[in-house]
Amino acid sequence: MSRRVLSSCSWCGRQIAESELGRRRRYCRQSCRQRAYEHRKGLEGTGIPEDSVVLSAQEATDLADRWFAARCAAEDVATAVAEGADHTELMRLTADLVELAKDAERLR
Ligand SMILES: [Zn+2]
Repeated sequence: MSRRVLSSCSWCGRQIAESELGRRRRYCRQSCRQRAYEHRKGLEGTGIPEDSVVLSAQEATDLADRWFAARCAAEDVATAVAEGADHTELMRLTADLVELAKDAERLR
């Protein structure tokens, strides 16, 4: 399986669909660009580097929860494989794992 280098939004972390013209974008949508701009303005004079990723406590908790859900799904796959689960069951579990891992990619 080939691995692509994906670019992700500098604000929310979601994958960015590259335009056909190939110009690299930093944000997935206009609202992310705007929030990043406001965030940079808010950091002025604080000494915190403007490229810092600052998450609220709730955002950090939610991010950890999404990764925990992905980890649990990965453990379910490992258990199913160890127990000789059938192909259909493995397909269902791996589809869940992929969805949860994708969801865990976003920052906010
Ligand atoms: Zn975004």
